[in-house]
Amino acid sequence: MTYDTVIQGGTVATAADVVRADIGIRGGRIVTIADRLTGGDTTIDAGGRLVLPGGVDAHCHLDQPEAPGEESGAVMADNFRSGSTSAAFGGTTTIMCFAVQHRGHSLTAAVDDYHRRADGESLIDYGFHLILSDPTPAVLGQELPALIRRGHTSLKLYMTYESMRLNDRQLLEVFEVARAERAIVLVHAENHDLLVWLTERLEAQGRTAPYAHALSRPSPLESEATHRAVTLVEIAGVPMVVVHMSGGEPLEEVRRARARGVTVFAETCPHYLMLTAAELSRPGMLGAKCICSPPLRDDNARAGMWRGIEDGTVDIVNSDHAPYRYDKQGKLSAGPNAPFSKVANGMPGLETRMPILFSEGVVKGRIDLSRFVALTASNNAKLYGLHPRKGTIAVGADADLALWDPEKRVTIRNDDLHSNCDYTPYEGMEVQGWPQTVMSRGVVVVEDGALKAAPGRGRFLEQATSSAWGTGDKIKAWV
Ligand SMILES: [Zn+2]
Repeated sequence: MTYDTVIQGGTVATAADVVRADIGIRGGRIVTIADRLTGGDTTIDAGGRLVLPGGVDAHCHLDQPEAPGEESGAVMADNFRSGSTSAAFGGTTTIMCFAVQHRGHSLTAAVDDYHRRADGESLIDYGFHLILSDPTPAVLGQELPALIRRGHTSLKLYMTYESMRLNDRQLLEVFEVARAERAIVLVHAENHDLLVWLTERLEAQGRTAPYAHALSRPSPLESEATHRAVTLVEIAGVPMVVVHMSGGEPLEEVRRARARGVTVFAETCPHYLMLTAAELSRPGMLGAKCICSPPLRDDNARAGMWRGIEDGTVDIVNSDHAPYRYDKQGKLSAGPNAPFSKVANGMPGLETRMPILFSEGVVKGRIDLSRFVALTASNNAKLYGLHPRKGTIAVGADADLALWDPEKRVTIRNDDLHSNCDYTPYEGMEVQGWPQTVMSRGVVVVEDGALKAAPGRGRFLEQATSSAWGTGDKIKAWV
């Protein structure tokens, strides 16, 4: 048998196993996994390296249009071209971004517009979650069911942000459609009234510097909203991912829900594992770089999140890449001394997600290699209907691979990263382990720190039904 490419001598890791094996690739797919393979038009020696499924980053924001009149008016620094390239340099080969419906507008038009932004731009394959901010009868009755059938089987909903948030009744109405169409919902869980109330009090006291952002959104407010979202999906009977969870306290709500049989999944991000609110107290406005919601918290929250990684409560680790430059187009769009409530939320992280979790998780002995693969690739692919095509190494799967050098030491410098954002929150951090060769559908896209393929080759991925629905009648609705 002949192959386009044979990868020889590597240690192959999936979410289940770590084995010594060769991989034969033909037509962009893995066609053989065996002890010893020859006959490749190209042969890659992976000796001394790990062969991992390319990462699936199922939470990144690229080229997302801001709502008219949105709080910050900031512009994202990365489009599909720069964002997907940055992702690939960090070992990620699939990204899932967000097609956003703004109020008064059609959801279908938002998806069509987002396709235009991505078409012919991405280096790697990509999918779109839907964001609903205006669940009108037309959206719930026609647009949403049609879009789910077109391969957008995951929807994100916000409990906060003035221009995006849905009330409990609206959430239930969307959940009802998601249940009928077997979609999975992603929820941003924070108590909006509470955080607005706190923000107004802080502002009245003149406490508007970046650090006050953390004070305006304390942990109980996230725990309450997580509990409320869990209660709503428990009654409505739809699987849910609570996105970007920030610490051990809200995570406790996920544990309690699961203990009583609710199908709920937890996502966190490297910044909640690595950083604390101390980042927000940097001099002047520098803390604005690390404003995100939920906010960075304290060491206790961080330790609680690591416990969730170790004990299996956390299912997926995604970047929540939200690239706003530290300038007047981005973080400072509302002025050089804008109050925290007018600073765009989020930070970059597509390229550093996998190296940080590998270094802090695997190298430091907190998780094993298979758990790393599950957290960064396989579980995302399963939850969002891309498995087994993406997120694993198996015969028939796309040859999306990261050949990982587990010994390589890298000091993270924004100058060496490929996002258009002008900072990384991890500047100066040392990590061990970095991808050396990254393949997308059998094509080497990155090798030894150099781009080897042209952006534009990435394809849109239609999602199948989430594996969360595979549990059959485990998901029960009360009506
Ligand atoms: Zn996000």
